Amino acid sequence: MASKLCANCRKAASTRCSACLGAPRYNEGAGVDIDTFYCSSSCQKAHWNQHKQICKSLRSRKQLARATSILKDIVYCIFRHATRFRYASAHISDSVLHLRKEPRGTPEQPNTDDKDTFQLFSMPSDTDPLAAEAALVNQRSMEAIFYLFLWARELLLPAVGELCVEIEEYWVSIQKPKFVVKYTLGPGHVAEPDICRHWLYKLKLNNGEVWAFDPTGAEYGDPEPLCPWQEFESRTSAEIVHMETFGSAFFGNEQGQEESSSYSFVYFHVEQQNFQRLLTDKFMKEIRTEYGGKINNLLKGSDEAFEESKMKFLNDWDHNVQRAIGNFYSEREQAQMDERTRMCVARYVPDPDDELAEAYGREDYAAAMPNWMAAVDRVMSIPLPPQS
Ligand SMILES: [Zn+2]
Ligand SMILES: [Zn+2]
Repeated sequence: MASKLCANCRKAASTRCSACLGAPRYNEGAGVDIDTFYCSSSCQKAHWNQHKQICKSLRSRKQLARATSILKDIVYCIFRHATRFRYASAHISDSVLHLRKEPRGTPEQPNTDDKDTFQLFSMPSDTDPLAAEAALVNQRSMEAIFYLFLWARELLLPAVGELCVEIEEYWVSIQKPKFVVKYTLGPGHVAEPDICRHWLYKLKLNNGEVWAFDPTGAEYGDPEPLCPWQEFESRTSAEIVHMETFGSAFFGNEQGQEESSSYSFVYFHVEQQNFQRLLTDKFMKEIRTEYGGKINNLLKGSDEAFEESKMKFLNDWDHNVQRAIGNFYSEREQAQMDERTRMCVARYVPDPDDELAEAYGREDYAAAMPNWMAAVDRVMSIPLPPQS
């Protein structure tokens, strides 16, 4: 351990300024003294005028780290309860993440009746935590952004809006993942690894720092949700595409149009929208009431106070996700979803090769679209933070 010197008198010191303690490192060597120690409270007081500025900047950074850790946990909580994938095992060896899917039915008699909808995420308890986390979010970056987008004005902005002067969305293709992913679908079958297509946020902090917020980086070996943008750019990606508008990943842009030209994506949208609507309309209200509509209240206070309120918030959130899933499977909700799906798919501009689309009528796709857009408009109408 390097010797710690009092920032004021340069004597040996062991007490750290607690206000900025725990701020993550940003572009090492940029002249920011992240480790500010004092030998006594009188030295700390004497040094305050010099430390004040940097302390404030580090506190912003610390608050951002707290916010992104909560946002990541919110997304993980949803995935843990509501995922389309079930894995029998996951392990990492030689920079390869091996995911083995749980079989449905038998090879002779595959269970095709199984509805491709939300199910609990299952994973053997002895799985390496990083492998479990990677499996949990594998190929879910799109959904993570989808959820965060839908709640961006409700959760992301209240959490980081005051801290950030700019929030942008990016599409990236990960060129140097810490591990590649291979699926095993059954005995003897190993799929080729996918390219890592990925969505994430670029956050410009009020102290001038620029950060990458990547809630599902664990899928390629980066479990930390926050990384200095410069570092992220240099080590992770070859191709980085700026999405036009914050919240544009799914609607009203070329990417979204292109994506929605498939039956499964239409279905996926309807399902996600229904689940999101349930969570927002029925259960978000409780979360909002409980936390005074200000998620950023959670981010204040000592480390202990923060950990305690974060734990409580996530328990409440977890509870609400489970209740929403319970509702999601209710007969009434299923009937509504079937109806919405039927309506959306009916209006779907078909790919002649898409057999599934053929099974539905397709006149009303255009009429169904406004329903989606209305939901999006409602979320989008909550104001953005002031731009400095
Ligand atoms: Zn001193
Ligand atoms: Zn400080």
